[in-house]
Amino acid sequence: MADTGAAKADRTGTVRVRFAPSPTGPLHIGGVRTALFNYLFARRHNGTFILRVEDTDQQRYVDGAESYIIDALRWCGMEIDEGVPAGGPHAPYRQSERKEIYGSYAMRLVEGGNAYIAFDTPEELDQLRHEKEKAGEVFQYDHTVRGTLKNSLVLPPGKVQELRDKGVPWVVRFLMPENREVVISDIIRGEVRVNTSTLDDKVLFKADGMPTYHLANVTDDHLMEITHVIRGEEWLPSLPLHVLLYEAFGWEESMPQFAHLPLLLKPGGKGKLSKRDGDRLGFPVFPLRWKDPVTGEVSEGYREAGYYPGAFVNLLALLGWNPGTDQEIFTMEEMISQFSLDKVHKAGARFDPEKARWFNHQYLQSADPGRVTEEFMQLLREKGYEPDPRRAGQICSLVRERADFVHGIWDQASFFFERPAGYDEKLVKKKWKEDTPMLLRKVSELLSDVAPFDAESISARVRGYMEKEGTGMGNVMIPARLALVGEGRGPDLFLIMEILGKEETIRRIDTAISELG
Ligand code: GLU
Repeated sequence: MADTGAAKADRTGTVRVRFAPSPTGPLHIGGVRTALFNYLFARRHNGTFILRVEDTDQQRYVDGAESYIIDALRWCGMEIDEGVPAGGPHAPYRQSERKEIYGSYAMRLVEGGNAYIAFDTPEELDQLRHEKEKAGEVFQYDHTVRGTLKNSLVLPPGKVQELRDKGVPWVVRFLMPENREVVISDIIRGEVRVNTSTLDDKVLFKADGMPTYHLANVTDDHLMEITHVIRGEEWLPSLPLHVLLYEAFGWEESMPQFAHLPLLLKPGGKGKLSKRDGDRLGFPVFPLRWKDPVTGEVSEGYREAGYYPGAFVNLLALLGWNPGTDQEIFTMEEMISQFSLDKVHKAGARFDPEKARWFNHQYLQSADPGRVTEEFMQLLREKGYEPDPRRAGQICSLVRERADFVHGIWDQASFFFERPAGYDEKLVKKKWKEDTPMLLRKVSELLSDVAPFDAESISARVRGYMEKEGTGMGNVMIPARLALVGEGRGPDLFLIMEILGKEETIRRIDTAISELG
């Protein structure tokens, strides 16, 4: 039976979850989603959210990745209660600083007969792999071959000691039981059944004195009193081994509950979402900008793309979690109060970049106008303008609804700051007629004595003139828009004139007349 996901308490009575990334690069959005589901679950149950850094694989360690992860969680608004860098009762939380711990646990398994020491060299194993491959088979270090290899199950105890004394490199391997049906209940996936005869004797402890992921992960989850392991589906194949490790250590009683989150799928729906999809379709796959320390390659993040952290977190939450209502916009507090693991589905969650923009659009529309204006002014300053707050506010309220991002406000409103560099040729051909210069000259003249120079007064004066002349609106309005904006789009023309101001409006009309004739 699948568990309902109801929170189980640890030895001290609280839910304890961990996000356990390996600092092998920037956090992919799938990783942020895993962190988020852990965070929401912890907060929902007044539990503890722990950040543990799984950095035992020194070869894959990437400089800067750990601080990137911490910055990303902070930007998303996930506060770390315990771990790196917060500290806590189970410190240290960086596995590379816990090295000493794992060796004794590995030996405990060897002594209990659940693991063994193996001396096979990488070259010998490669050779075996090669031979199998030639026969069209796959080599596995498992119950079918372990009795023929160089390990403590085969060698006499004296020989094992002798090799170790001589400093011959060795590893510890798990002794996978034969033909046992392991039945595990995963909160999201329900019952998972695996026959152990299909599994290999995984290395738990390496020749370099470091644990592998499996040993370090299980040992630390136990020592740190983790109650729920919430992680990506790619770890599901490791689950039987982990459960058997709990059993071998005699920790079944306090074994955490497991929840494996669905994969994030490509926009097309087939296959796992990758960085390449983002590059191809123009959306970020990282929360923050990342500069690869080796290649120098820079990848933009959601933050740099202009997303609000609230919108980003909101869109991630709905990749796999179905709140069961039509509600799509959630504050962090609302997500916390409604989150439950049994509303996480097991089918892959398709990532839709359009929908992602839609979320930010919603957040931008409901953001406090003063705040949006401030952000827009900041962007103007970065572009070298010294913005006037009143004018910036007017512009924001005029074009915000057409924008998905603050930089989208700029895209919609840049003509307020920069004169048209040219005029939409197609539109000129169609709408710039012989009598246009004459009409516009007249409009320009009229405008010069409109006071106050606001949309209402401008509109009254221009409309009055056109009615008197019997000219159609389009004959004046479209060329005037061309003169002010350079193209046919944009908000209400009279509002544009008001914001541009009398002098600039007249100047642009006059310039267009002289340039377009
Ligand atoms: N270090 C693993 C990772 O990078 C952790 C997997 C787990 O949560 O058990 O995702």
